[in-house]
Amino acid sequence: MGKSQPTTSAGASAATVEHRHLEALVEGQCRVLEMITQGMPLARILEMIAHWVEAQSENGLLASLHLLDPEHQHLLRGAAPSLPDAYNDAIHGLAIGPRAGSCGTAAFTKQAVIVEDIAQDPLWVEYRDLALPYGLRACWSTPLIGSDGEVLGTFAMYYRHPRLPTEDDLHIIQLVSRTAILAIEHMRAEEERERLRAREEQALLQAEAERRRLHDILMEAPAVIAVMRGPDHVYELANPLYMRAIGKGREVLGKPIREALPELAGQGFYELLDQVYTSGETQEGKEVLVRLDRAGNGILEDVYFNFVYQPSRGESGAVDGILVHAVDVTELVRARQQAQESEERFRTLADNMSQFAWMADETGSIFWYNQRWYDYTDTTLEEMEGWGWQKVHHPDHVARVVAKISACFQSGTPWEDTFPLRGKDGTYRWFLSRAIPIRDASGKVMRWFGTNTDVTEQRRLEQQKDDFISIASHELKTPVTSAKAYAQLLALRFQKAGDARSADLLGKMDSQLNRLTKLIADLLDETKIEGGKLLLQPSTFDYGKLVTEVVEEVQRTAIRHTITCELAPAISVTGDRERIGQVLTNLLTNAVKYSPGADRVVVRTAQGEGETITSVRDFGFGIAKEKQGKVFDRFFRIEGKEHETYPGLGLGLYISAEIVRRHRGRIWVESEEGQGSIFAFALPLAAPQSAAAGT
Ligand code: ADP
Repeated sequence: MGKSQPTTSAGASAATVEHRHLEALVEGQCRVLEMITQGMPLARILEMIAHWVEAQSENGLLASLHLLDPEHQHLLRGAAPSLPDAYNDAIHGLAIGPRAGSCGTAAFTKQAVIVEDIAQDPLWVEYRDLALPYGLRACWSTPLIGSDGEVLGTFAMYYRHPRLPTEDDLHIIQLVSRTAILAIEHMRAEEERERLRAREEQALLQAEAERRRLHDILMEAPAVIAVMRGPDHVYELANPLYMRAIGKGREVLGKPIREALPELAGQGFYELLDQVYTSGETQEGKEVLVRLDRAGNGILEDVYFNFVYQPSRGESGAVDGILVHAVDVTELVRARQQAQESEERFRTLADNMSQFAWMADETGSIFWYNQRWYDYTDTTLEEMEGWGWQKVHHPDHVARVVAKISACFQSGTPWEDTFPLRGKDGTYRWFLSRAIPIRDASGKVMRWFGTNTDVTEQRRLEQQKDDFISIASHELKTPVTSAKAYAQLLALRFQKAGDARSADLLGKMDSQLNRLTKLIADLLDETKIEGGKLLLQPSTFDYGKLVTEVVEEVQRTAIRHTITCELAPAISVTGDRERIGQVLTNLLTNAVKYSPGADRVVVRTAQGEGETITSVRDFGFGIAKEKQGKVFDRFFRIEGKEHETYPGLGLGLYISAEIVRRHRGRIWVESEEGQGSIFAFALPLAAPQSAAAGT
């Protein structure tokens, strides 16, 4: 007594158990088994086992069943309906160990622990104060060992007096233990099954959600997507963009591609899909031409795709389908083709035109020249790039050219200049050069496009012409002057001789000679201006007097017109009196000449701020707006019946403008076609010495 006796389950046969016991026992066990099969909660079953075993005992048995926690460390409450709650609470969570009362030790050692007297037994040293107050004295505990050899819990029988088990008791212990093991294992299995089922369900739900999500992604993706199954590439899924790309609807689903898109025959796509399916290797295509019958009328459209054929694999790892992922790049390809064509056209044009052409970025740094440039200069882009072009410019001109073009690049205004460029033979030729800014939609300069046109020959011809005019007008001047003198002499003689008719004829000849003199004078002036040789002889003079003189002079020959003057008083001007008079004469004779239907011309002078303004108003043909800007150009004459009847070289206004300019003045025209014109010029009142003395 007082010694713990761990024993294995008793070897005695059930036949030794008393008959009535046996019956009751079996009956109880049947009920428990029934409850197990009915899926009753484990706690209830264990409680029932406790009641069942207690009912078999005549010695005041108190049954207790504990479960072992999943970590196999602590005892947890199972069922002990007859033990005091406080005791059960104290035992709950008890750590198992080699000296942990009957149950804790049994669970730890996996051996039955029979404690005859709790008050004496060393295993209870630490726990007896828990048990004794409740009058608990004997405690036999059996570990409930599952089929895998692991302890599931313990079954204990308590008595209120010291006691050892009888043979019967051992049988009962064995039977009850087995039943409890059955119940616990059944419950555990149920739990495990439930857990698996829940997990499976969760996995299924997850898989379904994944599938949905993938489906949605594919359907809504901004790309052309289809999934094909099997070796025949049967359409399983195709998103709306795919449908649109192939020009088909849902009818393609479930069909093999060869049936759904028969027009692809011979285009290599079936074969490529076959290859992906058999090899399991992804295939890609960039800007591949696909010819599709999208309208369903037998007419094939050219469409370009970037695509990926990606094999998809089943559970076994074998290819069971293909994911088609494509992007319609038709517009891109077309745009590029067009850009290439237009680039090609541009290059052909640029390289074959007679001019040099070039392009510069927004800062004016040149990045491209046409072939002609290289042919002429025998340079490379590396040498010419940016501002490298200065190397082929003439040293006398380059600074001026750079200054002017830089100013244009900065202000964004079109550029024009004429300068010599050195050819590969070392000689210079002259080029008229222009550049215009190319702007983006917002008006910002993106680049410059420039040209250089060879004007050497033109300049030579121009020079020749100028030389000829200069020589001819010089040579003509003397004989015409003498002819005029002789004519005047003859006229005098005829007058004296009383031959009025001959004198009159000579008068007409004289006026023709005057016109000739004027033409020659204009030509001479033109050559002077061109040669920079128009000399001014400045003086300060009474301007009103000059105007009156000129008006009188012109009035003498203008028989049909009356020239009226409205003159501002006492204006004095510094300048070349004769040249300024020439300007006024020009304007007045033009006013008379180009207003044959009118009978008056009005001359006005007025004093403005630091300048005097002279205007000549006529009521004649007038000048169309678009021509007004050109009338001061050299040799410009308005074409048309009316103007052409009047002789002229188109030099008068050009010379006038130059004279006014040289006096630092301004000249302009206001006119309305059919209404007449006002030609006006302004001269500074106190012209600076330098301007008046200019060469
Ligand atoms: P031209 O010797 O031909 O008159 P100008 O240089 O004086 O040369 O004038 C240039 C052209 O301008 C003329 O040919 C004429 O067509 C036009 N023009 C000049 N003045 C007038 C005017 N007052 N009214 C209409 N047209 C004019």
